[in-house]
Amino acid sequence: TPAAQRAGAVLFVDLAAVADNWRAMAALAKGAECGAVVKADGYGLGAVPTSRALYAAGARTFFVADIAGGVRLRAALPGDARIAVLHGVPPGAGAEIAAERLTPILNTLGDIQRWREEAARLGRPLPCFVHIDTGMNRLGLEAAELDRLAADPGTLLQGLEVQAWMSHLACADDPGNPMTAEQLGRFRAALARLPKAPASLANSAGVFHGAGYHFNLVRPGIALHGANPAPWMPNPMRPTIRLLARIHQVRMVEPGRTVGYDATHRVAGKRKVAALGMGYADGYPWSLQGKGQVMVGGHRAPIIARVSMDLLTVDVTDVPARFLAEGDWAEVIGPHRTVDQVAAEAGTIGYEVLTRLGPRYHREYL
Ligand code: PLP
Repeated sequence: TPAAQRAGAVLFVDLAAVADNWRAMAALAKGAECGAVVKADGYGLGAVPTSRALYAAGARTFFVADIAGGVRLRAALPGDARIAVLHGVPPGAGAEIAAERLTPILNTLGDIQRWREEAARLGRPLPCFVHIDTGMNRLGLEAAELDRLAADPGTLLQGLEVQAWMSHLACADDPGNPMTAEQLGRFRAALARLPKAPASLANSAGVFHGAGYHFNLVRPGIALHGANPAPWMPNPMRPTIRLLARIHQVRMVEPGRTVGYDATHRVAGKRKVAALGMGYADGYPWSLQGKGQVMVGGHRAPIIARVSMDLLTVDVTDVPARFLAEGDWAEVIGPHRTVDQVAAEAGTIGYEVLTRLGPRYHREYL
């Protein structure tokens, strides 16, 4: 498109792949509802377009981190979409959450009280999820809070419709970790003490642990967005993004000369070097200086020297000249370079690579 033609980098997001990934997770968890975790602006891909595609595929429950993310989705999705907000009901926020018809996930007795007060103020029942900590020690009711809730749910939950008891797995991506089964046991024990309502435990990796983890609603995030949710096996998901950087300039560098900031990279022999239109301000990790590679015309081009704010330098000596015209493109992430490979090289996780995809990229949704 014309807009892509003047961009330094283009991010293609394959909405059909996102929808296919959701269908694959829904099929794995058949018998349960399959939600969609689209926090952090849809894991960096753009929560509004991806959620619309997910809704069209059949998803009806969407998870966001905060109210602002929920408000954006509420405006973008049909009215029957359920939008659950992971970070509870901050003091003073109840009225907006109710007005936007969001479903807060209540993490503390304080959240429960604030939401109960909002229901009383409005004089109508309000929906919620209640998050019970089962060992992650991050969010969710602590043991003493669970005791108090279990002792008098009628009073504490008055005016509230609990649509799901929820917990979150800490180690589901590590199949050898006994904590996953321990959390399942604690969750079952908690459910046995609480009024009957649907339940939800599994994130993406949790879905792969089998039907015992699915309960009534599963909450995949990373799997929908194409990074490997189950690192113990080859990635079963479809890749969802392709990130291209423009070749701005190509030069020959004489032996012994250096490339880039701080002159960290000195070429041994005569090398051909290209400058690409992408840098750390676009979310490309600065830590990847001198590590990893991009693909140019199907050929590997190692990244050399420092990552700049808006530029990468790559060694294209082995790339045929027909792929190196000014204005041609290099593939930074895509079919030949997965999100997980880039993450491994950068010493991080696919989640971070995706969520850091810069807002500066020109985006095209396929
Ligand atoms: N459920 C909760 C409570 C989460 O915080 C997250 C994301 O971290 C998810 C589900 C989705 O996790 P994943 O992206 O690993 O599927």
